[in-house]
Amino acid sequence: MFKVVSVKSYNKIKIFICNSFKNQFGKQFVIKINDYFHLYKEAKLNSTKPFKARGSKITRCHRCFLKDSLCICEYRKTLETNANFLILMHSNEILKPSNTGKLIVDLFPKTKCFKWDRKKPGTELLNELNNDKIRPVIIFPNQYLSEPNREIDSSEIQSLNYEKFLFIILDGSWYEARKMFRSSEYLKKFPVLSLNSIHISEYRLRSSDNKTHLSTAEVAANILKEFGEGSNAKKLFQWFELFNSHYMNGKKNIDTKNDHLISKILTN
Ligand SMILES: [Zn+2]
Repeated sequence: MFKVVSVKSYNKIKIFICNSFKNQFGKQFVIKINDYFHLYKEAKLNSTKPFKARGSKITRCHRCFLKDSLCICEYRKTLETNANFLILMHSNEILKPSNTGKLIVDLFPKTKCFKWDRKKPGTELLNELNNDKIRPVIIFPNQYLSEPNREIDSSEIQSLNYEKFLFIILDGSWYEARKMFRSSEYLKKFPVLSLNSIHISEYRLRSSDNKTHLSTAEVAANILKEFGEGSNAKKLFQWFELFNSHYMNGKKNIDTKNDHLISKILTN
């Protein structure tokens, strides 16, 4: 396993310098990885105690975080989308192997990921939120919205061209997402798009107190579906389904890959 020894920034691209990526002259290699992996590596670097959640002893792939024998990396495809996603991740979520926000990044590499901070949003996040060329909209269920006038309808977004919007998805447990939504002053000026009535989650990785709550990947897939990117939505659902199935197999110590779901992805 490689170890990140330092992080440098060049033209806003973070570059991780890894001690085990050395050539024959002993020179360090640099690798460029996407926003989610920036967060993941930073969280690993900054974590003072080892991750000891259930399943922490499993040897995992360093890319998909599934059990090594159930790795799905070879089936990953990258796709183009006109939808702009920004995933705001709760710090508890970043190191969780079950996180599904990373599945959005897997298929749509232009997706931005930032760590949530209640009071101190980073400069790069604020630059994204204050970019004049794009309008941020937060995805959140309307039944928990105390200011109904903040709600924006998907038809309104469609009429204004959804490519000009930045869909902010709050990535955390349902409790964390509510806290992120309610306590972040810098998010309070943005309109809210509610997707709660569109799709019932079949997500089985973590239970929620409400069966209509969607996983992070499902939220993005629903947005794609809503704005006419049916093929991308289907591929993200399938990628989520494959990840979900293999994650559950790993938990049950079943070392068999799901050929049915793999063939669905390969024939797309
Ligand atoms: Zn993998």
